Amino acid sequence: MLPINKPVFVSKDISYCLNVAEMPKESFQKPPAKLLAIVVDDFGGYERAGVDELLESDVPITCAIMPFVDNTKTDYEKAINNKKEVILHMPMQAHVRLPESWYGPVYITNYESTDSATEKLEKCLAEMPEAKGFNIHIGSGASRNQELMKAMYDYSSSHDLYFLDSRTNLGDKCEEASKMSNSIYLGRDVFLEPNKNKSYAGVISRLNQTISVADENGYAIAIGHVGAEGGTNTARAIIDFYKSLDKEKYNVVPLSSIYDLIKSKNFK
Ligand SMILES: [Zn+2]
Repeated sequence: MLPINKPVFVSKDISYCLNVAEMPKESFQKPPAKLLAIVVDDFGGYERAGVDELLESDVPITCAIMPFVDNTKTDYEKAINNKKEVILHMPMQAHVRLPESWYGPVYITNYESTDSATEKLEKCLAEMPEAKGFNIHIGSGASRNQELMKAMYDYSSSHDLYFLDSRTNLGDKCEEASKMSNSIYLGRDVFLEPNKNKSYAGVISRLNQTISVADENGYAIAIGHVGAEGGTNTARAIIDFYKSLDKEKYNVVPLSSIYDLIKSKNFK
């Protein structure tokens, strides 16, 4: 019998068993590339600045597309045809009164029942069958409702989707809700246009900040915008940044790659 209180650890990692002398030399030389995800919000809307530049570029951005608005279908199809990852940019209510037109025809209200909110989410996701997950458009009110956010995580984890928390406001309850739901938490690290600063140089410096976060954590998630919140400067900065990026050291990946990485770490 084993003595009580002595934990038995059986490693699943077979690399312990390998003879170091037999390992290929390269495994000592190259550290794995750090992962950067660049999520771009507000596709689908009528404000088009930066849309075509980014969709036609070779940067593997993740496109967050608003549902049931002017250009939802065309942006979705173009993104999929150009091999971009797509997520739903789900409109949710703010904590202050905003014009209805900012949300689009379907949005989740601050005190909506979890059943009705899940139904709306499902309806919007059905418009983008290839979507790998979702994040919130506006939503400074709804994201403070922990029960509602828990329902979003419950839905996403049971449908093999991810839910990215944009961390837009201080009262945001997403992280707590993800724990309650026992779901993986993904949070934005860097905003590319904070405080309405959408200058080209500003976006470049934020992209470099994304690299610093990745140096620390192994990966980093940035969020930028097409249309009024970002637009042409954001698009050009992302494209130029990608061109000059040291791709041996940094790998711009769809957000699902970071989600999968976190998932695999959680299982170890
Ligand atoms: Zn948005």
